[in-house]
Amino acid sequence: MKSISRIYFFLIASIVAAVIYLYYGVSTTNIKLIKNLENIFVIQAGNFAENIEQEIKKHTDQDKRLYDLLKENEDVRKELEHTLSALVTPSFKYVYVLYRDEKGKYRYLLDGSKEDKGSFNQKLDVDKQKWNRCYETKKDQVLMQNNLEGLWITYLKPVVWGSGVEGVIAIDFSTRLPSTIAQATRPLENIFFYIFAAMGILVLILLYQTILSIRTKKESIIDPLTSTYNRNFLRSFLKSINPAKYQIMMLDIDHFKKINDNFGHKAGDLVLREVASVIKSQLREKDHIIRFGGEEFLIFLHKQNKECTAAENISKRLKESIEKRTFTYENTPIHITVSIGITSNPEHFKSVPDAIKRADEMLYIAKREGRNRIIFDNPDKEAHVSEKKTISEVKEALEENRIVCHYQPIVDIKTGDVVKYEALVRMIDKDGKTLLPYLFLESIAYTNIYTDLTKRVLTIVFDQIKLHHLPISINMNISDILDNKIFTIIVDEIEENIQLAKWLVIELLENEHISSVESMRERLSKLKSYGVKIAIDDFGSGFSNFSIFQNLPIDILKIDGSLIKDLDSSKISYSITESITHFAKKLEIESVAEFIHSEEILHIVKDMGIKEGQGFYLGKPSDTIKPEKSGLKQASEISA
Ligand code: GH3
Ligand code: MG
Ligand code: MG
Repeated sequence: MKSISRIYFFLIASIVAAVIYLYYGVSTTNIKLIKNLENIFVIQAGNFAENIEQEIKKHTDQDKRLYDLLKENEDVRKELEHTLSALVTPSFKYVYVLYRDEKGKYRYLLDGSKEDKGSFNQKLDVDKQKWNRCYETKKDQVLMQNNLEGLWITYLKPVVWGSGVEGVIAIDFSTRLPSTIAQATRPLENIFFYIFAAMGILVLILLYQTILSIRTKKESIIDPLTSTYNRNFLRSFLKSINPAKYQIMMLDIDHFKKINDNFGHKAGDLVLREVASVIKSQLREKDHIIRFGGEEFLIFLHKQNKECTAAENISKRLKESIEKRTFTYENTPIHITVSIGITSNPEHFKSVPDAIKRADEMLYIAKREGRNRIIFDNPDKEAHVSEKKTISEVKEALEENRIVCHYQPIVDIKTGDVVKYEALVRMIDKDGKTLLPYLFLESIAYTNIYTDLTKRVLTIVFDQIKLHHLPISINMNISDILDNKIFTIIVDEIEENIQLAKWLVIELLENEHISSVESMRERLSKLKSYGVKIAIDDFGSGFSNFSIFQNLPIDILKIDGSLIKDLDSSKISYSITESITHFAKKLEIESVAEFIHSEEILHIVKDMGIKEGQGFYLGKPSDTIKPEKSGLKQASEISA
């Protein structure tokens, strides 16, 4: 395409050059022709004037003034006029001699004209300036006029004798030749005019087409909603990119679906547009932003040098500025957070799409770890940015038994009795600090260490079940169940503790698409055959989808904390929770309300008929199981 337009351009440019060259040739030939004509006539007139002067001098003694001599001597006058008239032709129409009288007026001495002949001493109006110059300089003068009617040349030659000028010989020459030439070449000039006009129009059309094609090309690579680049751009960008020059960032709005669901699609569009403009405002000229999916942006951050920390700084700044921003749709304030995955060194990957995939995986981890966070693919960098742990640190913690569980009670809302516990994995740092999973899980994703850690958690939980004879739940991702290695570990652990399996609950984080519903159902059924119960975690957020109950054998539904925490303030949260509860009852699925943080919320949950609850108000996570009383029981005892 590019080479065709280049050929096109050269073709037109050469045609234009050829036409201009031809036009220049024709017009300069014309001018040269006329100039030559002028020269020929001037030389010829000069010769004539010279002859006339000699003729005059031959007939006179030059001891008298020419005027006096001719006045007195009519014969000489006639003879000379005869000589002059011999020179008259259709081109040399007038040949005459004038003198300047005392008053500065010009009068005839001789006239060789055949028609309108001037008589001796008759006054003639002339261009005095030029004629006077003849008197002053004593040199020949040429007067020239070239117009539509023809070329006019008057050749003036002073008749000098003694010290003075006695008169001026004038030869008038006229010809229509130049206008004849002009007329002859006019059709040619007309042709040139039309060619120029046609070329002008052609250039305008080309210009218009070029602008049009640039615009459509631009439109085809720009996302109309956010005015960022789209995937079409990415395709061509990938061909030209040097991966070592960029860091890749994948940014996704958290729980964006809720904005659409709660405020409508238009509000979603507004948020998308504004998020894109916040991102653009934080980027530099050499960075590129691409709308990769619905609410997912792919960002290429330009690296000035190898040690560039653009991704660390920019991602942090972006996350903060979006979090702080209040998006307003029809007077409704909307707050959002984003999750970001980063590939720091795309040049280490086989291809740029692989590096993009890696950033996407990091984003996925950020989502899994609870969203509103940035995950780097480079463990060294991570540690420096936050206190995230490297694979070897997690491995060491496993070896030194520093991977532990904390337990949060799940309470029967009516009685206040603790009926279950949720096990929450923690890592104890070398200096005794307890670390949350997002600080140590992401570096071990897709590694053997992750499998070892899952195994450890299961062992710990079974030990606790053995001790307390209470159901304990553990968190798993859908991808964990679908992962052959991890699933085998789970099954092996369960088979080893077969009589305890009935106390185990697996809470599935439904934060991802189920790639194979069929094998998921098969595996969950296998787990259930041992007596294990399956719960769906965080239902009502993100990927939540009612069809999961149709496809998978689910026993427990845990209603997402983001709905429960707002039950007293948001009508929407209230109605969603109410529908979920109603739905669970119909299917005879147990429902659990997460995030009960106050008495008010507890009352609402209780009134809705939700049987079990979890949250700081009922009991905080603790490193040991103390199955005496829940916070609720203690509180009611105090009030009694
Ligand atoms: P997560 O935190 O896991 O990212 O959850 P999420 O709800 O943000 O993500 P999910 O992928 O479940 O939902 C994205 C939604 O974005 C689904 C789709 O209807 C919506 N969406 C995609 N494109 C557009 C758009 O152009 N405008 C609007 N208003 N919504 C869009
Ligand atoms: Mg999202
Ligand atoms: Mg999404």
